Amino acid sequence: MIYLSNPISRSDSPGKPGLPAGKFKPSRSLRVAAVLMVAVVPYPVQAITVQFDYSYDTRGFFTDSVSGEPIAERRAILELAASTYARFSDHLMPITPQAGDTWSVTITHPSLGGPPLRLTDLAVAADTIRVYVGGSPSAPGVLGFAGAGNNLSASGSESFVSDVLSRGQLNTSGENASDYGVWGGYIWFNAVQDWYFGVDVGGLSAGRPDFLTTATHELGHILGFGGADSWFSQIDETTNSFTGAAASAVYGGPVPLDSFYNHWAEGVNSEVFGIPQESLMDPSTVRGLRELPTSLDYAGFSDIGWQVTAVPVPASAWLFGSALLGWAAHGRKRTV
Ligand SMILES: [Zn+2]
Repeated sequence: MIYLSNPISRSDSPGKPGLPAGKFKPSRSLRVAAVLMVAVVPYPVQAITVQFDYSYDTRGFFTDSVSGEPIAERRAILELAASTYARFSDHLMPITPQAGDTWSVTITHPSLGGPPLRLTDLAVAADTIRVYVGGSPSAPGVLGFAGAGNNLSASGSESFVSDVLSRGQLNTSGENASDYGVWGGYIWFNAVQDWYFGVDVGGLSAGRPDFLTTATHELGHILGFGGADSWFSQIDETTNSFTGAAASAVYGGPVPLDSFYNHWAEGVNSEVFGIPQESLMDPSTVRGLRELPTSLDYAGFSDIGWQVTAVPVPASAWLFGSALLGWAAHGRKRTV
């Protein structure tokens, strides 16, 4: 779930403190550089692929209701959001039902255009997750929500059941879980928002939520943030904090959580390529700003069990030319 906030109207998230004053807003050249890095940095071949499925996009969010044609601009942003997670390089076993194998899971209808969906015997390729997407209008304070479904069941060969439940990852369930594997999930987007569906951060404007930011955030939940057993196994309820080693190292101690233990606490900050930014996986996002996964967000995913590879910034610097130089100079200014 992600809520909307801006300097005028706060999010409708219950019991959340306000955002800190003076939220960092990067310069245009810096923001362009950061987005380019997400888009073009080469990733290892074992990278996780997100396969979006529009078959339940029944209310015109990604598919034109009249012509039936895909809305390419919106779908392209989803793909860009998914590329953010191509840094994850775990090997996920394929889900391939054979004779005698069966599995099913219930998901919320991603367009809220029908009753909950029971999906049965889906085949999912290796190193791939399947994500059903859609949207519909709802209360204006909410941007979207996501999940991996519920009532997951599988029967058949031992290896098949393991592939469904954990994608071949070990120790994924229970209070001492240390890893995570998932078949996929669903994301619903709130169609009532005046979304910015562009890639270029220069097109962001006050009052319009950034679709890339929300899509990236919601994918994070399907990838276990705030939901995996291996997430909850690292929560200290007495201090309302996340104690994972990688995240604690980045943050400088246990990381404060929201009251539902599904996010970092509102306004927890980190950085993206050395530039300060509010964490992506806190409960709300500000209209008119783009948030990318920060070092802290990636560290949290690492603690959940994903193998998160470093982005080779120096080796790729030539890709960004003067934009990156501007970004680096800006970063130095901020540290003095
Ligand atoms: Zn959320």
